[in-house]
Amino acid sequence: MLRSIRWRIGLSYALLILASIAGLGVYLSNFVRQNYLSNLEAQLTSEVLLASEIVQDQILSGATAEELDILAQRWAEKLGARLTIIAADGIVIGESDEDRLQMDNHLTRPEIVQAEQDGKGISTRYSRTVGDYLMYVAVPVKSDIATIAFVRIALPLGHVEDQISSLQRTLLTATLLIILAAILLAFILTRFSLQPLRDLTFAATQIATGKLDAVRLGSPLTHIPNDEINQLTASFKNMAVQLKTQLEALETERSKMAAVLRVMSDGVMIVDNEGMVRLMNPAAEAIFDIRLGEATGHSVAEVLRHHQLFELWQRCHELDSVQTATVDLAPRHLHLQVTATPLDSSLPGYILLLFQNLTRLRRLETIRQDFISNISHELRTPLASLKALTETLSESALEDPPAARRFLQRMETEVDSLSQMVTELLELSRIESGRVPLQLSPVVPLELVHQAVERLRLQAERVNLTVQITCPEDLPAVLADAKRLEQVLVNLLHNAIKFTPPGGRIEVRARQQENQVLFTIQDSGVGIPAIDLPRIFERFYKADRARSGGGTGLGLAISRHLVEAHGGKIWAESVEGQGSSFNFFIPMAVDEPND
Ligand code: ADP
Repeated sequence: MLRSIRWRIGLSYALLILASIAGLGVYLSNFVRQNYLSNLEAQLTSEVLLASEIVQDQILSGATAEELDILAQRWAEKLGARLTIIAADGIVIGESDEDRLQMDNHLTRPEIVQAEQDGKGISTRYSRTVGDYLMYVAVPVKSDIATIAFVRIALPLGHVEDQISSLQRTLLTATLLIILAAILLAFILTRFSLQPLRDLTFAATQIATGKLDAVRLGSPLTHIPNDEINQLTASFKNMAVQLKTQLEALETERSKMAAVLRVMSDGVMIVDNEGMVRLMNPAAEAIFDIRLGEATGHSVAEVLRHHQLFELWQRCHELDSVQTATVDLAPRHLHLQVTATPLDSSLPGYILLLFQNLTRLRRLETIRQDFISNISHELRTPLASLKALTETLSESALEDPPAARRFLQRMETEVDSLSQMVTELLELSRIESGRVPLQLSPVVPLELVHQAVERLRLQAERVNLTVQITCPEDLPAVLADAKRLEQVLVNLLHNAIKFTPPGGRIEVRARQQENQVLFTIQDSGVGIPAIDLPRIFERFYKADRARSGGGTGLGLAISRHLVEAHGGKIWAESVEGQGSSFNFFIPMAVDEPND
């Protein structure tokens, strides 16, 4: 209950009111009592003085005790008080209310002692005879020479206390009513004053749980503009807006950073000063074959699993300087350039590891080197034989015209092969770099196959080979550049003729497979060793150099590029010694809808 401000304020008011009214009550009670007693004292004094004069006359005139009793009773009736006449020796000689014979000697009564000394005695005390508090006022009765008696008047104080109790009751009732009103007022006041505070508490809780959008502070409910709570609410609103703006800015920055890290091709990793991975982007996860987000919180050694990389991190950590290394990750044949940079200014002890995957670059470099060595090798043979032929010719053969003619023919063959190689290389480079635009149009496969076979029929017949065509007449057209597709067929047929011994068979087939046409050139030739089969489409690759004769090793590479440029696929199947079959798909032309 006391935890609520409303109750604390209400109870404080109540206690304050209670304390002040209690103080007031005590003061008033005393004041009233004193006032009453001093009035009473004055009244009783004047009455007793009056009575004393009569008593003096009576005693001096020799009145008996019985007569004094009657006198006391008469006066007591008049004054509404008790009257006692006491002889100078303390014996009661006249009494209005009690049996005087039963009464003690009164000489030691405080009021009598004081009256004898001072001429007037006052005492307030409990009377066992009456059973109440009484105020006694006594005066001496004097003859000319000495005190002859005392007259004492007494009045019970019971109704004084009745009056004070009634006053206290009134005060108590008023106090209770005021306390109730104060508590009610405190409740009403705090209810209105505390509403903005409750709003603030709710808003602060929302902010703490990250629900910044839910912060809605209504207009302040207190009607005093610019009071402390209104100022606090305004500052709080301002703070919430600022916080929201800053959080949004931070979130935008974070998203940008996350997007950059997500899409960047280089691997990024941040390791803390304890050697724990704090961040790893998807590229780094792919390099180390780690599932998304799993590296965070693991040790760098556990994640990298490579001593060279771990040592690089350690070196960077110990020397606090940038470290670089090139590393080969054996199982996946990855070639990495790794840079470890300390992030000392922003995050002391943290290290950023950057992994650049150079595998592709390295492969390209190897291909380039292979290409140069292949081309040099291919050029060297015809050039060497041309050199030998010219030397022989210039030295001796010119004198022998038939030999000179033979030499010249051989030189022509070498020059032809050189120029064919250059033509094919140019062609390949143009196709590879996409500088040969395809003129695509629907082409009837049967016509195409016929044309290619006709171009090489003579060559085939010369070495006694039979060429057979198997192609349904209604085979749908393919979408192709007719000239280029014929070039592919001629290349493959040419190889089949070249690698099939005399008397062999060559079959050219075309058939539909789903929405593509499959072309097959099958021969009964020498076949291709299984080890070479996956590589024969590479540039300059020759399966059996001894038997491949004057070929350049570029024909299949050109064919593969052309088929792929058509959106198709080419592959070879072969069993060494039994023949080969080269297959490729070309997509069918989709019929234009007739309007
Ligand atoms: P080449 O000009 O040497 O024929 P290709 O690229 O056309 O160059 O062929 C590459 C190699 O593939 C050839 O040297 C040969 O070893 C092999 N090859 C191609 N076609 C056949 C085939 N039909 N039968 C056997 N081997 C073949």
